[in-house]
Amino acid sequence: MSKLKIAVQKSGRLSGKSLDLLRECGIKISNSNQKLMTVSSNFPIEILFLRDDDIPQYVEQNVADIGILGENEVWEKNRKVTTVRKLGFGNCRLSLAIPKEENYTDLTYFNHKKIATTYPNILRDFCTKKQLEVEIEEIGGSVEIAPGIGLANCIFDIVSTGSTLLMNGLKEVQTVAQSEAVLIKTPELSEEKQAILTQLLFRIQAVMYSKENKYILLNAPNNAVKQIISLLPGMKSPTVLPLAEEGWSSIHSVIKEDKFWEIIDQLQDLGAQGILIIPIEKMIT
Ligand code: ATP
Ligand code: ZN
Repeated sequence: MSKLKIAVQKSGRLSGKSLDLLRECGIKISNSNQKLMTVSSNFPIEILFLRDDDIPQYVEQNVADIGILGENEVWEKNRKVTTVRKLGFGNCRLSLAIPKEENYTDLTYFNHKKIATTYPNILRDFCTKKQLEVEIEEIGGSVEIAPGIGLANCIFDIVSTGSTLLMNGLKEVQTVAQSEAVLIKTPELSEEKQAILTQLLFRIQAVMYSKENKYILLNAPNNAVKQIISLLPGMKSPTVLPLAEEGWSSIHSVIKEDKFWEIIDQLQDLGAQGILIIPIEKMIT
């Protein structure tokens, strides 16, 4: 039986989380990412460890069938691959930043400026769309030091907290794109491999749903049950069970964690008691 080949980042910000996701999908992977490749013992998948920059090319050329990498690399490399789904980690933005003492008005600031970046293609597309005339200085890394050493006037780079920019005397003035880790696939996948991918995607969906949602249990006076249910959109509708104590019910449902914080005060005002929020291990919808 053939195996689905997945490319993940060898070592870097996405490596750990990519493997965690596969493990949460119940896929056993031996611990060594020192190797170029490893095979799962309980799922028909082979894992290739590569530099993230190379993943689009390997997937386009069928060396790997699928891959996990930052969407920013997918845009930059512009290879013939299909983005299958976002994975909810590795979130960052691609932004333009300038020396912090500079006065920034609007995008026209960048006209005739020299911008250092490791993402020349994304930057070029953006500048063309915005009709900006800029000089792009492509460099391999440590972009944030380019203005300080006189290599460029400003930079276009990945930002997550902004602390690296601050340390280098820069300020973020324009977000160009928001990126996160995505799963990509080769344009041509055999039927057999597509079936394995479908199975993997089903598991990823279950893992991701379970992370976003919590199981909620609470006790409520019977006269408030209707109103409380209207606050709790469950998978279908909440389960309501009578409590041993006359006039009270127990309500069970599934709720998004951020939604819970929005409605907690209303639940308490309606008389809800003994509220429990429980993590969900897997959720199949
Ligand atoms: P490689 O050796 O594989 O080429 P790299 O140095 O290009 O590694 P990393 O710095 O590990 O890559 O980042 C990988 C991806 O993580 C980025 O392409 C981006 O999608 C995402 N990411 C999330 N937050 C950040 C951040 N603060 N800085 C850089 N990348 C980030
Ligand atoms: Zn890289």
